[in-house]
Amino acid sequence: MIRKNIGVWGESHKGYKRKSNEDRFLIKEMPGIIILAVADGVGGNPHGGQAAAIVIDSFREYEFIGENLKKELSMALALAERRIHHEVNKNPNLHGMGATATAVVLNNSNAFWIHVGDSRIYLLRDKKLKQITTDHTFIQDFLNEGSLTPEQAKNHPLKNMLEQCVGCDEMQPDCGEIRIKNDDRLLLCSDGLTTHLSDLQIECMLNTKSTQEAGEELIRTALKSGGEDNVTVIVKDLSYY
Ligand code: CA
Repeated sequence: MIRKNIGVWGESHKGYKRKSNEDRFLIKEMPGIIILAVADGVGGNPHGGQAAAIVIDSFREYEFIGENLKKELSMALALAERRIHHEVNKNPNLHGMGATATAVVLNNSNAFWIHVGDSRIYLLRDKKLKQITTDHTFIQDFLNEGSLTPEQAKNHPLKNMLEQCVGCDEMQPDCGEIRIKNDDRLLLCSDGLTTHLSDLQIECMLNTKSTQEAGEELIRTALKSGGEDNVTVIVKDLSYY
């Protein structure tokens, strides 16, 4: 049986409240491999967009050969980290710049992922949505402890504070592997989407439409709900033939 990757759509919108878009994303198709990535510049630093661009450029430029995709993903992320530190060493004005990094590399049968920060990967399988990544935020720790409910967390003043980012002192990326099944669908997104949409809303939209229609509706709904932040979405279908 030949398995073929089809259908991918991605877009980023500045939102209505921010002056600039500090999100960046990547969809790169190569023979036998597809790379998807979202990076979101750390808020409060004027160079967040630059850091996000370095992350995305690193995933674009790293030479994936497909022999050990898990290792290659972490090498690409390490390249991004080195490049950010290099820029900061050259120019101290850039001190504190950083970005999230959430990336997936797909081959014919598996999706390998790596993740730092609060952008997310979701998997839609058998019509059910599952969050694959865990946010590296202080709020996530409170959620894990049970000292905050998800509803309280949504409006908490620390909700955007990252425990980890690319360029921050601490970086211990999470990584994993998904064995692809027929009709699986992946979503990569920045927190500008998940600030406004519940998992149930995301699940409904991903279940009923093409990648483009679903992606457009996700972004439109985030904007309608306030558009507080930049919002970035990649929707990817995976199918058997
Ligand atoms: Ca954001």
